[in-house]
Amino acid sequence: MASELRDLYQEVILDHYKRPRNFRAMENADRTAVGYNPLCGDRITLYLRMAGQVIQDATFQGQGCAICTASTSMMTDAVKGRTTGEADALFQEFHHLVTTPPDVDVEAPSLGKLEAFSGVREFPARVKCASLAWHTLRAALHGDKQATTE
Ligand code: ZN
Repeated sequence: MASELRDLYQEVILDHYKRPRNFRAMENADRTAVGYNPLCGDRITLYLRMAGQVIQDATFQGQGCAICTASTSMMTDAVKGRTTGEADALFQEFHHLVTTPPDVDVEAPSLGKLEAFSGVREFPARVKCASLAWHTLRAALHGDKQATTE
């Protein structure tokens, strides 16, 4: 557990878990989607306000583990002000980061502090906790009401 804590719960992740950003429901959201990770029990609802193709605001509610909550908090911060195309590109980069074997270096030039989640590669069950927010984002952007990690 000690090494899992060290690798997984980096300071930035702990900070977003303890004080999740954008953690509120949004009235009159343009897009919403529910994400569910049955493996862990993480369940989130994502709300987006759009201005054309630009994500103006992103908020969420729900119950998740530390990794899921921190990931959703950081994802909502990261996509605000981005176009749907840019958000899709971030999704791809994040997905690549967390699904590449831990002994392989990954270039993630656009991720910034989201790179803190590279530690989940050591813990395959946690990859779904980290990526649930992004699957839910994609569902919301592309008109699906639900996303699961399966
Ligand atoms: Zn989880």
